[in-house]
Amino acid sequence: MGRIYNFSAGPSILPEEVLKQAADEMLDYQGSGMGVMEMSHRSKVYDGIIRHTEEMFRKVMGIPDNYKVLFLQGGATTQFAMVPMNLLAKNGVADYVLSGNFSTKSWEQAVKIADAHGKTINVAATTKAENFARIPAQNELKLSPNADYLHICENNTIYGSKYNYVPDVGAPLVSDMSSCILSEPVDVAKYGLIYAGAQKNIAPAGLTVVIIRDDLLYDPLPGTPIMLTYAVQAKNDSMYNTPSTYSIYMAMLVLEWIERTGGLSAMKARNEEKAAVLYDYLDSTDFYKTGIVKENRSMMNITFNTGNEDLDAKFVKESAADKMSNLKGHRAVGGMRASIYNAMPKAGVEHLVAFMKKFEKENS
Ligand code: PMP
Repeated sequence: MGRIYNFSAGPSILPEEVLKQAADEMLDYQGSGMGVMEMSHRSKVYDGIIRHTEEMFRKVMGIPDNYKVLFLQGGATTQFAMVPMNLLAKNGVADYVLSGNFSTKSWEQAVKIADAHGKTINVAATTKAENFARIPAQNELKLSPNADYLHICENNTIYGSKYNYVPDVGAPLVSDMSSCILSEPVDVAKYGLIYAGAQKNIAPAGLTVVIIRDDLLYDPLPGTPIMLTYAVQAKNDSMYNTPSTYSIYMAMLVLEWIERTGGLSAMKARNEEKAAVLYDYLDSTDFYKTGIVKENRSMMNITFNTGNEDLDAKFVKESAADKMSNLKGHRAVGGMRASIYNAMPKAGVEHLVAFMKKFEKENS
């Protein structure tokens, strides 16, 4: 079987030309006589790779000079702990917006850490009572006057919703961008800290990217492990221990691909076009339902269902027989989810919509 359209939420599809380039360089990276996976992270050749990956992040995302770019491990989930362990050490108060599954998890982790240190975590807003069908608006946010930060999850991978504004707050804004980073331009200067697990739009799993403003590199809460201290990671250029070397190299290739194909503005235009193919169809039929309000729809993760669990299961099964995979929705939501990250070609979305039309005809 050849390659199929992989709609996985993560780890997910990577650009085919990047995979081919990596395959070409697998045994001998640019005349070094070895593959990138086999290299010492302290070697001159590898140093060139990690530094160029950072340069590419800075260039593609327009990251200002007063921010560090860190290449960490432990996934975005480790950031749920690192953020409070480091940032609560100033005033000891932080605000969280709960807009879905991962923002709730990050809040639960922060509460644990805050409780152990006598610090305070407030819920600035939540749409849980509405089954996370929308993102809280700016004027709903109850902000603490002395908060060390406000935490948001910018794109809800499971529910398929996304912020359509950047909260304007006094405190540093901390954003989990795991499932939307590199999908469109962002004004990094509006954020104090951005983090993302790599396994959607950046690279294979095993790498977590953190973009942190210099003034947030202060001493963490007492007892914070060295590896979980931003200031230590920054001072050591993400080389306090062995970083996720191959994923960092893959990130470099993906960033070069983004730049070659027009950068983040062009990426956004392509993503909008792809998402419209699916949303326009969903809006034109009553057979499929969506649970997210229009203004908060995600371009990356699109959720829908037929309103009938048996039919949903049939959809997933039959789509798998038609060159598509991973269309089953997350168990927390049910139904279907199409994750159409940067690397998903428009042809993949068109293939899905053609299948959806056929399925509707056969089952309505
Ligand atoms: N945040 C978001 C928005 C996610 O989508 C995910 C994973 N899908 C996570 C956090 C957790 O990431 P990880 O598995 O890298 O810890």
